[in-house]
Amino acid sequence: MNIVLLAPPAAGKGTMSELLIKKYGFTHISTGDLLRNALSRNDEIAKSLKETMDAGKLVDDETILKLVYDKLSSSDNKGFIFDGFPRTINQAIAFDKMLSDMDNKVDTAIYITVPKEVALKRTTGRITCPSCKRIYNIYFDNLRPKNSNICDECGVELIKRGDDSEEVFEKRYATYLKETEPLVNYYQEKGILKEVENINKEEAFRNITTILENL
Ligand code: ADP
Repeated sequence: MNIVLLAPPAAGKGTMSELLIKKYGFTHISTGDLLRNALSRNDEIAKSLKETMDAGKLVDDETILKLVYDKLSSSDNKGFIFDGFPRTINQAIAFDKMLSDMDNKVDTAIYITVPKEVALKRTTGRITCPSCKRIYNIYFDNLRPKNSNICDECGVELIKRGDDSEEVFEKRYATYLKETEPLVNYYQEKGILKEVENINKEEAFRNITTILENL
């Protein structure tokens, strides 16, 4: 089964992916994570990618499609979660073609929604474990790490992403409305869109599992 998670910035795509992987063992394809890995190469391409991401803009479709293709063709096919991809109509069309060439398809697109004020707090308070990728948040009691800046599980120092400021959030949100929100219609017209509001993590996850188990 192939699932696309579609959402505005900080609606909880990463968190829902983590829970889905734990429960069903999907392979996670997050273009944000693939790009952040590419940044560690520290060459000219990495420098230009970092500039684009830190400005809240989208990376070009060609780079993204190549990252996804390489990851897809090197993974065993036991079902994928696409997190943060596709993000433009052009990517979605190219992605459908890529999958159909592999005798495959998108089975469902889950549209995760959240009020903009909540998304803003999630973004500006977010800190992540570089090792296990667990996400914490300094603004929410139940999401704070036990020791100020250290991962509860790995004991390593948590990091704040370069694009997690309020200013960049506003830019990313505007980019989302312009480039990505049209995908809601795209998948609705294909009859595979399901909407889940993610205010409460457990409830949202329960709703997603119900959707998947009734496909
Ligand atoms: P979030 O989940 O917080 O919305 P991501 O981690 O998915 O953000 O992405 C971080 C940044 O990486 C984006 O703001 C964008 O610059 C870039 N990016 C990620 N996925 C894509 C994509 N499919 N197309 C273009 N740019 C992307």
